[in-house]
Amino acid sequence: MTPSFELFVDGASREGTGGGRIPLVNPASGEQFGEVAAAGVGDMGSAIESAHRAWESGWRDLPPGKRARILFGVARALRDNLEAIARLEQRNIGKPISDARDEAELGARVFEYYAGAVSGFCGQTIPVARGGFDFTLRQPMGVVAAIVPWNFPFPIACWKSAPALAAGNSVVLKPASLSPLTALALGRIAHHAGLPAGVLQVVPGSGAAVGDALVTHPRTRKISFTGSTAIGSRIMQLAAPDLKRVSLELGGKSPNIVFADSDWERAADTSPMSVFANTGQDCCARSRVFVERAVYGRFVERFVAATRRLAVGDPADPATQLGPLVSAAQRASVEEYLADARARGSTFAAGGGRPRPEGFYLEPTVLLDVGPGDRCWREEIFGPVVCIVPFDDEAAMIREVNLSPYGLSGSVWTNDLRRALRVVRQVESGVISVNSHSSVHVEAPFGGFKQSGIGRDLGMSAMEGYTELKNVYIAD
Ligand code: NAD
Repeated sequence: MTPSFELFVDGASREGTGGGRIPLVNPASGEQFGEVAAAGVGDMGSAIESAHRAWESGWRDLPPGKRARILFGVARALRDNLEAIARLEQRNIGKPISDARDEAELGARVFEYYAGAVSGFCGQTIPVARGGFDFTLRQPMGVVAAIVPWNFPFPIACWKSAPALAAGNSVVLKPASLSPLTALALGRIAHHAGLPAGVLQVVPGSGAAVGDALVTHPRTRKISFTGSTAIGSRIMQLAAPDLKRVSLELGGKSPNIVFADSDWERAADTSPMSVFANTGQDCCARSRVFVERAVYGRFVERFVAATRRLAVGDPADPATQLGPLVSAAQRASVEEYLADARARGSTFAAGGGRPRPEGFYLEPTVLLDVGPGDRCWREEIFGPVVCIVPFDDEAAMIREVNLSPYGLSGSVWTNDLRRALRVVRQVESGVISVNSHSSVHVEAPFGGFKQSGIGRDLGMSAMEGYTELKNVYIAD
């Protein structure tokens, strides 16, 4: 029997009306294993109205201690279901099970962090010149639309929902059509753990149809979006007439900068997974590697050897590091980039082909001799493709790094502290790490410069972004 999944609205699973059903395909085999109900515009409207009622009639005014207790309960319930969540993600989008387990755990940790933050989240008292008493309030906004992509469906659903709920909002969560299952599981688990009905609604459906309806609905006060730069720009335009608040986490083309004075062997060994993890479907993928010429040849050799050691295979196998791409369409889009690289005479130092006949697999691919105008160098490919180039001059290299319209993440490898500080200041990106590839920490802000986005997820910045700031003055 084909498993079937419904919307999760008002604390119960519901059929959609008018949106039809979306087939769910296992990317490792290419076979359909189920389907999910897609919301119609009417379903979305009623989910938003009832999220607003749930907010106004209770959640908004719940004492912080009670709200924290409920969110800690959600975190505990998520922990009780980590393996089930990981298995759903693995089957739905072909994510290697070891990564899916880490991401399920990350989601639970995010709920713990924001549950803990509720009681300490407060305004300021401010000494103003006229005497009297001035203080600020951080007030919830109302209904928050959380629109999430298919590459990290569960953790991103959690890192949008948890701070929005902790700040006292209700949430309408719209997962991507390709990856609705763990978002629906989040809705069910959170409700059974004590989150009141309607406070977290999970409404799968087509972005173009119900996504627009969610963004433009008069009750929606803030849109927190993660996805492509093109759709982010559209959402900003849709939100503009009513001046709705938006935060946007968008695409990237992040640099990985390796100086000759660094532990470049370690950089070469670890860098392949900084771009190929999640089969390259990662907004933070370090897909442009700049290597100082003195170590370029040796670095490339070592990088290619490490790439060839990566375990590409069945996502259900705990030893697998790279699974398939999410869909046939995504693989076709990446293969177009590879065809362009071939036509322009780039060198394929590794990969370029399909490693398996079934499923949507593609080999991790290392491109050399790439020109500054080439599509593979300039555009976000969102697949397992990296370009490596040599550089001679630090200032010219930084200029090239910053020519990208994106500015999400990046790494700098050097053992010279002054150089590290100089380069991290100059690179135009919201997140950067030195001698490491980590980008995401639950406690620290995450987001982009330029066309990589507006606003920040995670840390206390996210919670601030789900409130309005009110200043109150009381005369003496
Ligand atoms: P996408 O922009 O196609 O879709 C993202 C979400 O938006 C989906 O839920 C989709 O259904 C919805 N959507 C589509 N059209 C809409 C509309 N008109 N109105 C409202 N919602 C709409 O992105 P994707 O293909 O799911 O994800 C890949 C992209 O996401 C990449 O560009 C990647 O870099 C980016 N991304 C960014 C981050 C980050 O934190 N910066 C994290 C993950 C992914």
